[in-house]
Amino acid sequence: MATTWLGPKGRTEALASMADEELDVLVVGGGIVGAGIALDAVSRGLSTGLIEARDFASGTSSRSSKLIHGGLRYLEQLDFELVREALHERGLLLTTIAPHLVRPVPFLFPFQHHWERFYIGAGVTLYDTLAMTSRNNRGLPSHRHLTRSGALRVFPALKRGALAGAVQYWDCQVDDARFVTTVLRTAAGLGARIASRVQAVEFLREGEHVVGATAADLETGEKKQIRARQVVNAAGVWTDDIQEMVGGRGQIHVSASKGVHLVVPRDRIQASSGMILQTEKSVLFVIPWGRHWIIGTTDTPWDLDKENPAASRADIDYVLDHVNQVLRTPLGRDDVEGVYAGLRPLLSGSPRRPRSSPVNTRSRTPCRGSSSSRAASTPPTGSWPRTRWTRSRTGWAARSPPRSPTSCRWWARTVTRPCTTSGTGWPATPDCTSPGSRTCCAGTVPGCTTSST
Ligand SMILES: Cc1cc2nc3c(=O)[nH]c(=O)nc-3n(C[C@H](O)[C@H](O)[C@H](O)COP(=O)(O)OP(=O)(O)OC[C@H]3O[C@@H](n4cnc5c(N)ncnc54)[C@H](O)[C@@H]3O)c2cc1C
Repeated sequence: MATTWLGPKGRTEALASMADEELDVLVVGGGIVGAGIALDAVSRGLSTGLIEARDFASGTSSRSSKLIHGGLRYLEQLDFELVREALHERGLLLTTIAPHLVRPVPFLFPFQHHWERFYIGAGVTLYDTLAMTSRNNRGLPSHRHLTRSGALRVFPALKRGALAGAVQYWDCQVDDARFVTTVLRTAAGLGARIASRVQAVEFLREGEHVVGATAADLETGEKKQIRARQVVNAAGVWTDDIQEMVGGRGQIHVSASKGVHLVVPRDRIQASSGMILQTEKSVLFVIPWGRHWIIGTTDTPWDLDKENPAASRADIDYVLDHVNQVLRTPLGRDDVEGVYAGLRPLLSGSPRRPRSSPVNTRSRTPCRGSSSSRAASTPPTGSWPRTRWTRSRTGWAARSPPRSPTSCRWWARTVTRPCTTSGTGWPATPDCTSPGSRTCCAGTVPGCTTSST
C-alpha cells in the first residue's frame, strides 16, 4: 500500500507521475464527489489521478450542514426510493464504512397543533421503517413522541407557547472536510495520485475526444499535460466552467444556490438535542457541534465569486428570525461567533424537487444510447450518504470490480469486519457503458454525453 500522507513531497511525486504516463481516470475536483470517484476507481485497479485547484474540500464539501441523513423532508415529495437509498448508505457509513467519523445525533421536531402529531409522526415512522428495511439501522434509536413538557425537558430553551408537543428522531453527522480527506487518503493509500493546488486549465482533445487535461501547478506556475482515458468533471458549482473548456459540450448546466450557517456557542441554547424547524421555504436545523450549535440554512441564488460566497445581513437575519420564533431567550448578532456560506450545485432548468437538494434536482433518467461525442464526464452531484451511489454510476463500475475488501483500511480504521463490497449497492450496474469505451457517461442526466467506442 502506498503512503496515505498527502504532504508536499507526495504532491510533487503525484504530479510528476500523472504527467509521466496515461492514466485510466483523471478526476477534476477534490470535494466529496471527486474524492469518492477517485477511491472507487483506484479500488477497482484503475490507475487514477485527482487534481484539486485549491485545497481539498475547500468548496461546498466543507460548508455543508454536516449531516448524514436520509432526507426526512423528501418524504413529502413521495420520493421513497431516494430516502431509502440514502438511509441505507447512512447505516453503512455509521456501522461499517466510517464508524470513527459518523456520529448519531437526535433531532426534536416540534409542532404547534395537535393534529400535526399524526402527520409528523407518520413521516418519522416511515423514515425509521425505511431505515430498518435497509438492514443498516443498527446503532440508531427509534423515534419517540413527546408531550409539551417532555419536549421542554429535552429542549428547555424552547418557548412554552411555541409548541404543543414534539417528535424526536435520529440522524447522523460527520466532519465533512475530514471525511473528504479521509476518503482521499484511502485512495492515495491504494495508489491514487492526488494533488491539491493544481488546476485544470484546458482539456486535451483528439478530434471530439477528451484525452486529458493541461494542469497548472498553482505553487510553481508550471503547466503539465496529464493524459487519461477518462476525465471526470467533479467540479461542483464550477461544472459549467469545465464544460466551457471542452467546448461547451456538456448538457448539464449547474447554477449555485447559497446556504448560510451561523455558529453559536453551546451555552446560548440550553438543550440536549438538535432541532428541525419547518420554515415557509424549507427547514432550519439547529445542530449540536462540539462546543457550538450550527444553525441553518438559507437558500438564495448566487452568481458572484464562487470561491468566496459570503453571508449578507439579510441571510443572518433570516436565520436569527426563524430560530428566535421558538427560543425563550432570543439570539442576537452578538451571540453569533461564526458564519459560513456554501454553494449548492443545482441543475439549471430541472424541476426543483425537494427543496434545493442537489441530489433531487437531478433527473435520474438513465442515459442509454446517447450521443457519440466524447467529453469529460460529469457525475451527478449528491448528498454525503449518496457518494457511493455517485461512484457506482460512473461507467467503469461494470468493468472493474473493486479490488478487495481491504480497500477500506483507511476509510474505516476501526472497522471490525471488512467493508462489504457486494450486496450493498457497490457497485450497482451502471446505466450506460459500452465495453471498451474510453469515456463513460457518469451522470444519470437526461441526454448526457457518452462515448460510442
Ligand atoms: C449549505 C449547504 C448545506 C448542505 N448540507 C448537506 C448535508 O447536511 N448533508 C448532505 O448530504 N449534503 C449537504 N449539502 C450538499 C453537499 O454538501 C454537496 O452536494 C457536496 O459537498 C458537493 O460536493 P462536490 O464534490 O460536488 O463539490 P465541491 O465540494 O464544491 O468540490 C468541487 C471541487 O472542484 C474544484 N475545482 C473546480 N474547478 C476546478 C479546476 N478547473 N481544476 C481543479 N479543481 C477544480 C473546486 O476547487 C472544489 O474543491 C449541503 C450543501 C450546502 C451548500
